[in-house]
Amino acid sequence: MRYSVCASFLWFGLVSFTALGQSGSSKSKAADKKTTPVVETAPSAVGITVPSWLPPETPVQPAAPQLNDVVNTKLDVRFDWAKQYLLGTAVLTLRPHFYPQSTLVLDAKGFDIKAVQLVGEKGDKLLAYKYDKSQLFITLDHAYTRDQPYQVRVNYVAKPNELPQGGSAAITSDKGLYFINPLGLEPNKPRQIWTQGETQSNSCWFPTIDHPNQRMTQEISLTVDNQYKTLSNGLLVASRKNADGSRTDTWRQSLAAAPYLTMLAVGDFAVVSDTWRGKAVDYYVEPQYKNTAKAVFGHTPEMLDFYSKRLGIDFPWEKYAQIAVRDYVSGAMENTTATVHGNTIQATTRELIDNQYEGSESTIAHELFHHWFGDLVTCESWSNLPLNESFANYSQYLWAEYKYGADQAGLVQQHDLAAYLEEANDKREPLIRYHYANREDMFD
Ligand SMILES: [Zn+2]
Repeated sequence: MRYSVCASFLWFGLVSFTALGQSGSSKSKAADKKTTPVVETAPSAVGITVPSWLPPETPVQPAAPQLNDVVNTKLDVRFDWAKQYLLGTAVLTLRPHFYPQSTLVLDAKGFDIKAVQLVGEKGDKLLAYKYDKSQLFITLDHAYTRDQPYQVRVNYVAKPNELPQGGSAAITSDKGLYFINPLGLEPNKPRQIWTQGETQSNSCWFPTIDHPNQRMTQEISLTVDNQYKTLSNGLLVASRKNADGSRTDTWRQSLAAAPYLTMLAVGDFAVVSDTWRGKAVDYYVEPQYKNTAKAVFGHTPEMLDFYSKRLGIDFPWEKYAQIAVRDYVSGAMENTTATVHGNTIQATTRELIDNQYEGSESTIAHELFHHWFGDLVTCESWSNLPLNESFANYSQYLWAEYKYGADQAGLVQQHDLAAYLEEANDKREPLIRYHYANREDMFD
């Protein structure tokens, strides 16, 4: 089986290569058909033969220009469940990337902006800005050079439900911040808040430079009803009860990561704890799944060990948490140190009997491996997103081979190859491509 899989892959590769090599030639239709009999062709207006499967012309999508860099993001947020608003204060530490800058453009989608200030040692200064509901154009008090970091504070209200809707097959919505059962009207459904940043949706709930070629450290303080657990990137460095009965949790991540990997979650979760080399490895599940959480997620410490050794780079982040949320808009997301899964990863004892490797366990492997390919090393632009995904997919094969042997690994390979060839019936494009219509199409 493995041989025939490889042979068919080789055959497909040769046909593709031959066809691509001729795509720009002026050979006649007959000649083209002779060398690539399976490829249908259509004559173009000027008589040049163009294979009919060639992708349509799409715009060039270069990496985002780097004018200012976000160095650190400090957020202080609370929530209005009834209106589904996030009330936020962001203090961003920035500096020019190379050339001096006297202006700053932040992505900030659908906010009410209350104030924009320069944070100074001698007091804060209001800054002039223009806002078009998508980007915030700020005029700084003078030009800054790249060795002059500066801090900007933005007071804002994020209103994710008042944004125009987008999304893709991979991630079905792009509003960034989600309130689940916010009024508590749906019986048997927990109230939750969670976020989904990839590709550029985190700027729906905090102002940032929402591109993968930015890297920042961060600190997020969430004020919530005392009954709820919170989760965000990095370590919980403070938890303070407030006079009004609420609680403020502060999460800090000291290693820099791209803005799309920032997350938060709030809700009634049971936290089941493991460790790996002294680092916390936590599983956040709905309380009724507390007793099966380790059966679902319990391979995680061994995976951390395996991938650290296989890659020769130890898992570098401060902790590793996984959380299962309701009504999730994708399969799972590798937010740095805080992976989000859909709630269907949770399982009862009965459901666990039917669990297949290529269900939850391979997803757990995939998201963890992204902490090297995606989070530690990040694609410069969405043109390179298939690099993130290809390495993460390969990790599913590696774990299967290590844990269950060659047959299981062969099955993973066969399924992946079949999916690839199936997709090739409709879509044949270079994996890494700088022309595309929509960045959400880059999850190849
Ligand atoms: Zn992935």
